[in-house]
Amino acid sequence: MLLLTLCGEMHKLMTNLVHIIRLKRQHVVLLLLLVSFAVVVMSVMAVVLTALQTVASTTNALDESRSRQAVTGALATLKSHMTATMVDYTVWDAAAQAVYAPGAEDWILDNFDLANGGSKIFNAAYLLGPDDNILMAYRRGEPFSTPPSDFLSPAFADMLNVVRGAGVGDGAEASGFFRTPEGIAVVGVSTIRGATPDVTVPQDRLQRLVFVLYLDQARIDSIAETYLVKDLHLVDAASLPPGAAMIADPAGRVIAGLTWTAQSPGDVSFRHARPYVLIAMAIVGAFVVLLVLAGSLVIGKLRGDEIAARKMALTDRLSGLGNRLGLFNGLQDMLRQAQDDGNDVMLFYLDMDGFKEVNDVYGHATGDRLIMSVAAGLAHLIPEDAVLARLGGDEFAIALTLRHGAQPPQSLEAMILDFFSEPFVLGDRIVVVGVSVGTAISTSGSIDADELLRRADIAMYRAKAEGRGRTIAYDAAMDNALAERKSMEVALRAGLRKKEFFVAYQPVVNARTQEIVGLEALLRWDSPQMGMVSPEIFIPLAESSGVIDKLGLFVMEEALRVARAWPQIGISINVSPAQFRNPFFIPSVAHLLEASGVPPRTVTLEVTEGYFIHNPAHARGTIEALNGLGVRIALDDFGAGFSSIGYLKQFHFDRLKLDRSMIVALEDMQRGREMLQATLALAAALDIPVTAEGIETREQAAFLHQCGCDQLQGFFFSRPVGEAGLPTLLAGKAARGSGLLSA
Ligand code: C2E
Ligand code: MG
Ligand code: MG
Repeated sequence: MLLLTLCGEMHKLMTNLVHIIRLKRQHVVLLLLLVSFAVVVMSVMAVVLTALQTVASTTNALDESRSRQAVTGALATLKSHMTATMVDYTVWDAAAQAVYAPGAEDWILDNFDLANGGSKIFNAAYLLGPDDNILMAYRRGEPFSTPPSDFLSPAFADMLNVVRGAGVGDGAEASGFFRTPEGIAVVGVSTIRGATPDVTVPQDRLQRLVFVLYLDQARIDSIAETYLVKDLHLVDAASLPPGAAMIADPAGRVIAGLTWTAQSPGDVSFRHARPYVLIAMAIVGAFVVLLVLAGSLVIGKLRGDEIAARKMALTDRLSGLGNRLGLFNGLQDMLRQAQDDGNDVMLFYLDMDGFKEVNDVYGHATGDRLIMSVAAGLAHLIPEDAVLARLGGDEFAIALTLRHGAQPPQSLEAMILDFFSEPFVLGDRIVVVGVSVGTAISTSGSIDADELLRRADIAMYRAKAEGRGRTIAYDAAMDNALAERKSMEVALRAGLRKKEFFVAYQPVVNARTQEIVGLEALLRWDSPQMGMVSPEIFIPLAESSGVIDKLGLFVMEEALRVARAWPQIGISINVSPAQFRNPFFIPSVAHLLEASGVPPRTVTLEVTEGYFIHNPAHARGTIEALNGLGVRIALDDFGAGFSSIGYLKQFHFDRLKLDRSMIVALEDMQRGREMLQATLALAAALDIPVTAEGIETREQAAFLHQCGCDQLQGFFFSRPVGEAGLPTLLAGKAARGSGLLSA
């Protein structure tokens, strides 16, 4: 049981070991220590048991040898005891005198007690004459006549000869073991003679007394008792087991043996000690089990921690969905599977439209809640085997497997767009956002996860660029566009270095007098490869690539230099929203202003409304800082986008610049006029002066002046001109009708 538990735990431990190979090294070391400890403990136990068993078997062997020595000794003692008895009976003056005298029979019977059937000294006795003839013979008290050579085997004759050879001197007695018809017996023979030299016996008539004492069970038992041997008994010579004490006759023939039951005291001791050893083993075993269990628990916990940590590393905390890495892993699995079974993998790359505004307007807590509800909603929409992840910020991705060649699921695209078209209720707030989705497909898993993500990402950017709130599938042409963009970006940076940029100036005139009151600085790029590149193209590129900061400062420096040369003219400089995000923007403006010596009141910075919609809080701070520098702020391109009265009131602008589109709209629509008039009325109500841009005709100029615009700008007055054209342009300060001047 113990062993089974141990084995089970060891198995678990080993399984865990396999899983934690990736764990830190100290964990593996801990485990090895644990296993080695268990092995050491078990080995020590095995050695202790082996030692105990060795002690037991050595003790057994020692006891066995002692028993054999005792039994052999007892047999020898029996023999010598018989010899001593014979000497007692036969070497005796009185006997020597009586036995050899006539009529000795009675004396013999009385003194040697031959007819005593219950004698403890012999069971049978002979008195033999000089020729070994039987003078008297008794067996168990009864006379009998079997000659000793028959009764005691022929070997007896040899012993008798030896005794006879000794005459009446030393050695005239002997003993030995013999087989008799009644069993093994110790037999003694001795010549009857005087104890002192005074008594002489007739040498030619010497008589010998023979005693036969059976080695019966009673005698054997008494030996066993005396020598502490168990179950001692006689065994026939033919079936003697090894280790028995052998009984041999005087001729050296083995006639029988004694065997006994080994007491095996070692076994006994071992049996006594065993419970304690077992208890010790049980304790150690329990300890080892505990140790292994504890180790297994610790390692299990480590493994659990590791799994949790790994899971955490793949999970987005806020939404509980997989993160970028999680998606990447999931995608890789799907792609591998797709390679095997020939299916396609489709990736949806989602980027919310307007999430930043929600974050800015309602705070991050609301933004977080929006992310969570989007995550929950998307999880509900997607098929069961799809992978949904949040890639960070307001970006999500959905990966799913399509049967090879199957059409992308239109329903999912539609469901996603539908889902985002509904307002989100977040507590007591209702927010409206949208989504732009890019999709890409890896046919039979042929496109790897990195590339698939990249493709879906550019498709998503295209969806954003094409007006948001839509799904666009990746197309190889997008890569070309991207490559083109990239090379243009490189050219842009190089152009800045190589001074390919310059600033053109377009006059702004007083609507009433048509005198030039200001200049708008407009950046120009004269690329040796591409020719004149429109700012509509390179400004967005400069914004996304970060070149705008340098470019913006370049324009400002140039414009301020020109402004310094014509102090009576105001200067307008366009500022990109991207520049506002740079924390060094305000200090840089302050520095340039100061360095140029141009009075700040004559400088107007033109900003577009996008910045105010997207970053109202930040925008306010920036506007205040710029106001602090003393420059004016104009809201550019008014009427081209969302244009809310709300932020017109919220931020105090020094001027509005009507977008050219509003002027164009005047041409054929009554509504255009009404809109323009309403806008100008609003500006008047808010007390903000208005510049009209894009004036191309006299009529437009007149109409806008009528409507209340105090400043006008457009090709009708002048196209933007290079710095070199400024002296001519500004010579008369009036540009009326001179709309043919060009840069
Ligand atoms: P914007 O600030 O609204 O500049 C006025 C644009 O309208 C200029 O285009 C100007 O040439 C054009 N324009 C002026 N009068 C007329 C007209 O009568 N008819 C027509 N069709 N167009 C007229 P441009 O120079 O191509 O600049 C385009 C836009 O690029 C600018 O719009 C401005 O948003 C941006 N931009 C130009 N220079 C800079 C700059 O230095 N920094 C930043 N951030 N943006 C700049
Ligand atoms: Mg402008
Ligand atoms: Mg404009």
